[in-house]
Amino acid sequence: MDYFELREKAKLTIRADDFYSPFEIAVNQRNIGCLYLKEENSLKQQQDRATAGFTVQKAAEAKLPTEFGAFRIVGFRSTNSDEEFVALVKGDINPEEPTLVRIHSQCLTGDVFHSLKCDCGPQLQRAMKLIQSEGKGIIVYQQQEGRGIGIVNKIAAYALQDEGADTIEANVRLGFEIDQREYGQCAEVIKLLGAQRLKLMSNNPDKVRALRNAGLEIVERVPLEISANQPAFKYLLTKKEKMGHLLQLNGIF
Ligand SMILES: [Zn+2]
Repeated sequence: MDYFELREKAKLTIRADDFYSPFEIAVNQRNIGCLYLKEENSLKQQQDRATAGFTVQKAAEAKLPTEFGAFRIVGFRSTNSDEEFVALVKGDINPEEPTLVRIHSQCLTGDVFHSLKCDCGPQLQRAMKLIQSEGKGIIVYQQQEGRGIGIVNKIAAYALQDEGADTIEANVRLGFEIDQREYGQCAEVIKLLGAQRLKLMSNNPDKVRALRNAGLEIVERVPLEISANQPAFKYLLTKKEKMGHLLQLNGIF
């Protein structure tokens, strides 16, 4: 019996018992109040212990019906920066059972504007469809646009690409690392949502390594390869050849 049930039961007992004087009822209610407070504090301590060392906190949760099916949308805030994380969740997540998971890095141009320069939008949609058909899974939407350089710098990088640079050369010429993303807090979000054994939907070996290093078990890597159209082909080839992404690129060859 949890303490909410205990409280309701105690209230009923006191109200139903005619032998109590108003004074005794007041005393009992005060005692019970203390008991609840103690229970509440111990619950809070348990929760604090469970999330000790975490640098993200769950802040909000709501239902989100989508074109692909019904999901829950969960908002997290970083405790050491202004960063926010969003997770789309479906089904009951259990640490024992392998869970389909994707960490999707925000791509305004691909996700929202359906740009043909990359495969991000179709990858996100594929991940949502896979989770819908599995009935269970998590997508962590990480707001690190343009592999962490921000949308305006990404547009500047696209301008360099218009002049012939590839995606990596463009980032380097702008003074950025090839990939500035970090996945530690995404791993925390996944753990806070209750997953431990992952079927990771990704072509990116860095993500596999980062999540393993964060203590999550990757039981399977689920490729998310989209048939590339011509504008995205050079981008995907660069990812394959210079960043080690696990792509076949059969859509073109
Ligand atoms: Zn993209």
